[in-house]
Amino acid sequence: MKILHVDLDAFYASVEELDHPEYKNRPLAVGGQREDGILTTANYPARKFGVHSAMPVFMAKSLCPDLIILPMHRKKYLEKSQEVFDLLQDFSPRIEKVSIDEAYLDVSHWQEGEIEKSLALKKKIKEETGLNISVGLSYNKFLAKLASDWKKPDGFFWIKEEDIPDLLFPLPISKVHGIGSRSEDRLHRMGIRTVEDLYQLDQDFLQDHFHKAGLQWYRRIRGIDPRPVEVNSRRKSLGTEETFHEPITKREDILAILKTQCQELEEESLKKGIQGATVSIKLKTKDFKVYTRSKTLREPVYRWQDTFAVCRDLIDKLALKAPLRLVGCSLNNLMDRGIEQMTFL
Ligand SMILES: [Mg+2]
Repeated sequence: MKILHVDLDAFYASVEELDHPEYKNRPLAVGGQREDGILTTANYPARKFGVHSAMPVFMAKSLCPDLIILPMHRKKYLEKSQEVFDLLQDFSPRIEKVSIDEAYLDVSHWQEGEIEKSLALKKKIKEETGLNISVGLSYNKFLAKLASDWKKPDGFFWIKEEDIPDLLFPLPISKVHGIGSRSEDRLHRMGIRTVEDLYQLDQDFLQDHFHKAGLQWYRRIRGIDPRPVEVNSRRKSLGTEETFHEPITKREDILAILKTQCQELEEESLKKGIQGATVSIKLKTKDFKVYTRSKTLREPVYRWQDTFAVCRDLIDKLALKAPLRLVGCSLNNLMDRGIEQMTFL
């Protein structure tokens, strides 16, 4: 098993820097504009002053009076994130998106040249999007995430089986995924501060005091983490719609439009390697009433003949007489094509 954890550095702030090159290398944060607001992301120059995410604005400003604070531009971040995720597809089709700026990639198919390939990924993201991404490689999720954090920002680190457990010993326990601030406090009170301290505790003791979580930590610091990369489809739905100035009345005209749309969906599905288990239509009448109808199938589909057959059924059942000003259809409940085979790899 080879798993890559990738994490964009100071993501929102980095996207803003791309739009405002004049702010580059200056302390910059994104988030609440008012004094009682909260920062969402701080760039690295700001972090040097002790400014970090989730910090109230007034506190950040007292630490760094010159801090530039920009409002959030969610749409821009989502678009940029999508660009990154599209590029990641070139390195592995098996991607688990953890958040807007973070993912696990199953790269078990990398037999050799792991370092070159990881660096090529970083280079590609940088060249195509202008963003720095930190990359960690290891043989399970816990260690891959730890590795991507190891040399942040713009880092790459590979944790191998033979590095465990010694490599982890000097780390503070807060670096162990799953140890939150409350558990950290409890462990501190027991005199446990580093992974090496934690390593001395036996399994029963950890389980008695911290239950399932304790057992998890016990295993993780020994390099045991069986969580698989859970591939998710990149989008929940794939759809297309069209508005008409001249309202459409004839059934065959509506069907002709839907047929073209289903062909478009097939093309997109093929490009993205996905299929959908639910087919939906959306119609808007001349007087702006919206009708949506869907059908979930036993087997996911992507070929236009299949989606179109469902659309036609839905249209016929709806038996709408009013003239239409909008016709659309979409595929929902998306999943990767070929996921069935891949699950058993
Ligand atoms: Mg990040």
